[in-house]
Amino acid sequence: MTTKKLLILAGDGIGPEVMAQVRRVIDWMAKKRHITFDLTDGLIGGASYDKFGHPLTDATMQDAFAADAVLLGAVGGPKWDDLPFEVKPERGLLRLRKDLQLFANLRPAFVFDALAEASSLKTDLVKGLDIMIVRELTGGVYFGQPRGITTLENGERQGLNTQVYTTSEIVRIAEVAFDLAKKRGNKLHSVEKANVMESGLLWREEVTRLHAAKYPEVELQHMYADNCAMQLVRNPKQFDVIVTDNLFGDLLSDCAAMLTGSLGMLPSASLGAADAAGNRRAVYEPVHGSAPDIAGRDIANPLATLLSFGMMLRYSFDMAEDAALLDQAVKNVLDGGLRTGDIMQPGKAKVSTTVMGEAIVRELDKLAG
Ligand code: NAD
Repeated sequence: MTTKKLLILAGDGIGPEVMAQVRRVIDWMAKKRHITFDLTDGLIGGASYDKFGHPLTDATMQDAFAADAVLLGAVGGPKWDDLPFEVKPERGLLRLRKDLQLFANLRPAFVFDALAEASSLKTDLVKGLDIMIVRELTGGVYFGQPRGITTLENGERQGLNTQVYTTSEIVRIAEVAFDLAKKRGNKLHSVEKANVMESGLLWREEVTRLHAAKYPEVELQHMYADNCAMQLVRNPKQFDVIVTDNLFGDLLSDCAAMLTGSLGMLPSASLGAADAAGNRRAVYEPVHGSAPDIAGRDIANPLATLLSFGMMLRYSFDMAEDAALLDQAVKNVLDGGLRTGDIMQPGKAKVSTTVMGEAIVRELDKLAG
């Protein structure tokens, strides 16, 4: 029996509602599988601002450092829109990611057969789709110096950002991607613009070198980012794992996510550097926000957060079997015709957040015998 320290930050809006369903699954795992969770609850975003005047306190940050992994709901909402920049709910999330040095953002785009028709692409293009996009999260043009807006001598204004990557930044994100590829389809696309950007050329050279030195068994292909965008909508099933920089990853992961057709189904993970024992700091969260338009009505889809918990089992706790069980439970519940409003289809049964959570636990019971 192992015990994992888990910090739960439910956040704002639908965050607490969807997290309540994950708690059911955590309780089930503790009862039925060989794991116990040492749970700590904390506040983040607007909820933390309301209580402490800050979107993420030092004490909660300490809890995050002490945890094996953090599971997050969502932050933000109109109530806090007019707060000063430094205390906006989103600042709490940014601090969490920055202080934990989470440089690798994992965004799967997975299509459950039962929902394939929800995609804006033809069903046969997306049925069976299972892509993992690995985006570099702490470097590149979003952080590069120099940056700013200045007025030139001729009176024109100039906006400046700098795209910059070093060898170590490229190697550490590529290692995460190669390791993932080895556990999946053994295929990696490395994406940049080596044809027009020196940072892209360095990226390509370093990934090539790492491939030869450490991962020769993984099939590696280089692809320009513009071509990758095109290929994602032309023939998305050619991809297994894609690794790319912060800017291209921002765009391509949203594009890939939408192939699946539903924001309420998309999980994510953000990982930091591995320690001596191979453990990484990690935050798991749904891709969607706090959905204030539907908050408090028990109608939000809890599956993105539940699948984020599944990623935690797989990537932080090495519990692939339990993660697969959870994926199977979600698949079976969808195949059985239950839908929250956001993924509702004709002829299916529309259910609440709570009923969806209960159905997943019942399915887990069935699967685990
Ligand atoms: P959103 O993702 O919250 O909502 C977009 C639309 O999708 C809404 O119509 C919402 O009802 C729907 N939706 C989202 N998740 C759903 C779910 N699980 N089930 C059913 N429907 C769902 O994005 P937004 O409206 O642009 O932003 C709302 C707030 O969330 C803002 O304050 C924004 O800053 C914040 N936000 C937070 C995060 C985060 O915490 N990581 C991410 C994005 C936005």
